[in-house]
Amino acid sequence: MIWEPIDDLVKSVKTGRTSAVELVNRSLKAIADNQEYQAIISVLKDNAMARAKLVDQAVANGEDPGVLAGIPFIAKDNFLVYGSDTTAASNILKGFVPPYQASAINRLEAAGAICVAKANLDAFAHGASTENSDFFVTKNPHDKSRVPGGSSGGSAAAVALGLAPFALGTDTGGSIRQPASFCGVFGLKPTYGLVSRSGVVAMGSSLDCIGPLTRSAKDAAIVLDVMSGRDELDSTTIDKNAAGYSGVKALNLKGVRIGLVKEYMGEGVNEEVKAAIKRAVEDLAKRGAIISDVSLPSLPLALACYYIITPAEVSSNLSRYDGVRYGYRDKQAADLFESYTKSRGHGFGKEAKRRIMIGTYVLSSGYYDAYYKKAQTVRTKLINEFAAAFSSVDYLVGPVAPTTAFKIGENAQNPLAMYLSDVMTVAANLAGIPSLSLPLAKDKQNLPIGMQLMAAQKKDYELLSLAMAVEETIK
Ligand code: GLN
Repeated sequence: MIWEPIDDLVKSVKTGRTSAVELVNRSLKAIADNQEYQAIISVLKDNAMARAKLVDQAVANGEDPGVLAGIPFIAKDNFLVYGSDTTAASNILKGFVPPYQASAINRLEAAGAICVAKANLDAFAHGASTENSDFFVTKNPHDKSRVPGGSSGGSAAAVALGLAPFALGTDTGGSIRQPASFCGVFGLKPTYGLVSRSGVVAMGSSLDCIGPLTRSAKDAAIVLDVMSGRDELDSTTIDKNAAGYSGVKALNLKGVRIGLVKEYMGEGVNEEVKAAIKRAVEDLAKRGAIISDVSLPSLPLALACYYIITPAEVSSNLSRYDGVRYGYRDKQAADLFESYTKSRGHGFGKEAKRRIMIGTYVLSSGYYDAYYKKAQTVRTKLINEFAAAFSSVDYLVGPVAPTTAFKIGENAQNPLAMYLSDVMTVAANLAGIPSLSLPLAKDKQNLPIGMQLMAAQKKDYELLSLAMAVEETIK
């Protein structure tokens, strides 16, 4: 199903050409018609309908229904949403009904948007294929035998299938951009802190970012505008752009300095992916952009650095699931200690356990200096190298992932091979910079190829304006 651009849909709701109830029904029908893809964990039909009626009532009363009036959306199931189980696709949180709601959801609802469903993910957002979901595997809309990417695979598949005009994802090391690339949609990871993390199940708190998956850069800008800005419930949040984001226009490319990341165009990257990026860059040059190759010497260390820092933070964040405070509790345990070990032992899946063990190891006093501290040093180096790069170019570009969508099962038994799909996305999280994935082309098997755009911290507006300029050539 094809949805009109978000601002057209909102206009239609505001002028009574369509209604919020109609849009929600359209979304619910699309969800019901596409169950075979298994993108969705739960549907919030009654809540969504009730909200839709409120929006329509506001329109009927001549009140302002908000800049996202009546727009249905789908949230990854690690967002706390009133009235919905929030599972993070993990058995340990099955049946957990949150007592409060994510700030991002509050802001979207205040603007008239309506959460219709919760999407599948790799449990606790650990993964790059959605195969680590404790419940089921989501299928790629372009080829059912392939993964949708991860960890926001349900959200990306949902947008590609047209289940709603937009979906929310989280990106700790690529989990918005990589599935967006595999499913042929737009995915934005904003600057760290631009969108509040309050009410989102924490993975790696110094890396986690919240962002939209959409059908266009403009739609991403509209959604970002509503969600972004300081929030007293998350002390790491920053102010949004003074002019907001929704008014963003396509960038005039004349004289714009764009760096092609050298380390992302080398060995191990699929030839068709490389060729598509090269063609896109040549096209930007024809339109006046000044292209150069840019090297960030520490980039080859980024993946190793990420897979030390992230498990460290994961092991800390997952310690709260003790069988006492949330979700699953083992009923057979003889005492408190056994209750902890059995609840965690049965409740967590393989990947969560792997990360808890790695994280606990790298944080242990004997190995802290050898691993964690070194990784933090590399992280600082990377931040400095990105800052230096952005003093000589306005943007960096490259592929999103080394391959297009791989087969379900292909990497599932080999965690290292799976971790390699993140090789081009983790650096943006380590450096806290905004990065966007857009659907650039298709490979010979008709699978989407994404292009990654990056800008300096807080240049989210500029990033979106470049995305709109690139989008003009791929339409
Ligand atoms: N694939 C990466 C990982 O498994 C990124 C996950 C994410 O961004 N949530 O850690």
